[in-house]
Amino acid sequence: MRRSFKYLLRPTCKQAVALAACLEEHRQLYNAALEHRRIAYRRAGVTVRYGDQSAELKHIRSDDPEGQGRWSFSSQQATLRRLDKAYRAFFARVRAGRTPGFPRFRGRGRFDSVEWPTDGDGCRWNSQPDHPTATFVRFQGVGHVRVHRHRAVEGHVKTVSVKREGSRWYVVLSCDDVPARPLPATGAAAGIDMGVASFLTTSDGDHVVNRRHLVTSADRLAEVQRDLARRQQGSGRHRRTVARIAALHAKVRRRRLDGAHKAALTLVRAYDVIVHEDLRITAMTRSAAGTIERPGRNVGAKSGLNRSILDAGWGVFLRILTDKAESAGRTLISVNPSGTSRMCAHCGHSAKKNRPTQAEFACTACGHIAHADVNAAINILRAGLALRTVVNAA
Ligand SMILES: [Zn+2]
Repeated sequence: MRRSFKYLLRPTCKQAVALAACLEEHRQLYNAALEHRRIAYRRAGVTVRYGDQSAELKHIRSDDPEGQGRWSFSSQQATLRRLDKAYRAFFARVRAGRTPGFPRFRGRGRFDSVEWPTDGDGCRWNSQPDHPTATFVRFQGVGHVRVHRHRAVEGHVKTVSVKREGSRWYVVLSCDDVPARPLPATGAAAGIDMGVASFLTTSDGDHVVNRRHLVTSADRLAEVQRDLARRQQGSGRHRRTVARIAALHAKVRRRRLDGAHKAALTLVRAYDVIVHEDLRITAMTRSAAGTIERPGRNVGAKSGLNRSILDAGWGVFLRILTDKAESAGRTLISVNPSGTSRMCAHCGHSAKKNRPTQAEFACTACGHIAHADVNAAINILRAGLALRTVVNAA
């Protein structure tokens, strides 16, 4: 199993300056490589490839020993590969007949990570193994940076990345051969309905509430973003407002992650089989209601923001649930959710009128009354179990 582990870094002031320089010069390399590709194509119709750019790194480094020459060759190659990937994705979307945006230059706030593809090459995890109390990671050009190692690393460290979120720095390890930890079977299965009033509801009737702070943060974000529109670009106030927005986003991310871990752990401990709705399908059916960029008729900017924060929360939650389920040896099934909210779990009668309010389910055929989300979760569970039977029979 491959898994990633993320730890807060505690750089000294000098190291923080070096980390910022490292990130900034990788950003400049990315932009220069993009410029190179664009000009070569525009002036001479030449397509520049990753191999061509990687071959030039040697000269770039020797021409600029105090700048680009300070950092790891491998992390610079990884940055060029990242651009190559953006190009490939762009052409793949063109071939698919869509109209994608061309790979863009990255502004200062739009380039937040550097990757070292191999531990030991330009970076070293646990660089001072004999230190009695602390853990360090060494980056070429930065030094041994102290790590807040709140949990143990498992498996073999494959790649190491450094990531800036607001004013904090993190190290992310991608590890191979992480041992699975199967949990004892419980004999129980559950369907989960993901909603707005409750973050999720199980077919057994348990609710995980949507944490209010996410909504509060969304309101504050909307407010600060309105402030930003009034600030003059390039001014000190503008810069401070941008920093505030980044800090708020980081706070939302941390809290969301924390809540998602707890909810996923509870489910994985209790159930052998967990069925959830396929979010890609849910997102498609919902896009008619508008997004934050293009609000629908009844969607204001604020509710659009709330919406997108909740949506992102489900995506994060399902990723974490998938990891934990795999590690624990649990089965996760995703189903098409269409119809699950208006169908009666008791008699199968399906009608829009079965939902007199958002929270209530009252079947117009058999009179069955239930919490609407629980009713939906039961339908989701049944759809998943039916799907599994079909797959097992095939
Ligand atoms: Zn019914």
